Amino acid sequence: IKSITLNFEKSLLDKRLVLETHLEDVFLYADKDKITQVIINLLSNAIKYSREGGKIYIELKGTSEGVFIRIKDDGIGIPKKDLPYIFERFYRVDQSRNKKTGGAGIGLSIVKRIINMHNGEISVKSELNKGTEFIIKLPYK
Ligand code: ATP
Ligand code: MG
Repeated sequence: IKSITLNFEKSLLDKRLVLETHLEDVFLYADKDKITQVIINLLSNAIKYSREGGKIYIELKGTSEGVFIRIKDDGIGIPKKDLPYIFERFYRVDQSRNKKTGGAGIGLSIVKRIINMHNGEISVKSELNKGTEFIIKLPYK
C-alpha cells in the first residue's frame, strides 16, 4: 500500500489532496498483483471523485476476523439510488456528472471480482456531497 500511494504522488499534488494512512504490519496469503490492482482502482476513484483540497484516508489493520482495508474520501459521494449498481460492469453514476472525469465503469467490477476470488467481502458507505468509504475484509488465507 505504501508503494502504491507513492505512485499516486503527482495526482495527489495536482489536486492538492491530503492522504492520511494508518497501516499496520499485517501478513496474509493473497495474490499480490490482484490486491495491488484493488488498491489502485479504489485509490484512483477516491482521487478522481474528490474535490480540490480534499482528504483521503487509507487504513490497514489485522483483526481476529481477518484483514480490513478501508479507503475513505470526502469527495462528491454516490447517490443512494446508484449504490446497489456501482459494482456492475460499465455502470457509472449520472453521465453528466461523470463526463469530465472519464472512465469505462469497470474499475469496481474488477475490485469486486478479485475480492470474491479471495473469499473476501467488500462494502460501501456513501453520502452525496460528503464522501465515500469502501471497506474490504480479507481472510488471512
Ligand atoms: P474506470 O474505473 O473503469 O476508469 P469509473 O471510475 O467510472 O471508470 P468504477 O471505478 O467502476 O468506474 O466506478 C463506478 C462508478 O461509481 C463511477 O463512475 C462513479 O460514478 C462511482 N464511484 C466510484 N468510486 C467513487 C468514489 N470514491 N466517490 C464517488 N463516486 C464513486
Ligand atoms: Mg474507477
